[in-house]
Amino acid sequence: MLEIKNLHVKINENNKEVIKGLNLTIPDGEVHVIMGPNGTGKSTFSQTIMGSPKYSITSGEIQFNHTKLNDLATDERARLGLFIGMQYPTEISGVKNVDFIHAAMNAIKPADQKVSVLEFMQRLDKVMDFLDIPEDYTDRYLNEGFSGGEKKRNEILQMMMIQPKLAILDEIDSGLDIDALKVVSKGINEMRDDKFSSLIITHYDRILKYVRPDVVHVMMDGRVVTSGDYHLAEQLEAGGYAALRDRLGIDA
Ligand code: ADP
Ligand code: MG
Ligand code: MG
Repeated sequence: MLEIKNLHVKINENNKEVIKGLNLTIPDGEVHVIMGPNGTGKSTFSQTIMGSPKYSITSGEIQFNHTKLNDLATDERARLGLFIGMQYPTEISGVKNVDFIHAAMNAIKPADQKVSVLEFMQRLDKVMDFLDIPEDYTDRYLNEGFSGGEKKRNEILQMMMIQPKLAILDEIDSGLDIDALKVVSKGINEMRDDKFSSLIITHYDRILKYVRPDVVHVMMDGRVVTSGDYHLAEQLEAGGYAALRDRLGIDA
């Protein structure tokens, strides 16, 4: 379970506070969605959970399965079972996708549970077939020259190989055509079980046709301002953030 209590986060570069008292709980087994206007701090929030050095927690707490994350390094968070699919996945020239995924899987496993090359290749083959990913993906360098849709599909491939306990997927549906959206959704649905939870950050309700969330949260000005079921996303799509602000009595 992920528990966030009264979180405040600032950007180190300019000392600007972006997250301003955010509260959020995601129990095991649930899929939650965060929607919110541009610039409201969604990506800052997801990168803070993973421990990005660009941001500092000024107060509040992030707990994952009752372990406080605030001061843990990114690799320690990964070992606890956290995974982040970034809005803009990093391109790394000279590192093959296949090697990156294998290394990422083994980095979080204890010494006696490392995945051999053979086991890895067998599993990779299955997951790539499942996600309709072409064979040549593996030999390509990490995200280099990947289209927007290919990068997102690759994030889902990484997630399915690494098998995290919690996945935060930042705009995993942005820029996807229908086929790619279905593949990404299929991957998330395949991961769903009582030991896995997920937070999907999105601008659109269209992914919610394929992935039915347990809870939808709306984030504005660095806080979760309201939560509901998937109907909340439909209301937002219909009326926009202005209508929601009026309804909640929030100043723009
Ligand atoms: P969202 O993902 O909701 O669109 P972001 O978290 O990306 O919002 O950004 C929130 C605000 O913080 C924006 O005003 C953005 O410009 C600013 N911001 C985020 N990261 C940085 C950074 N590394 N340097 C400067 N400003 C940043
Ligand atoms: Mg963002
Ligand atoms: Mg194959």
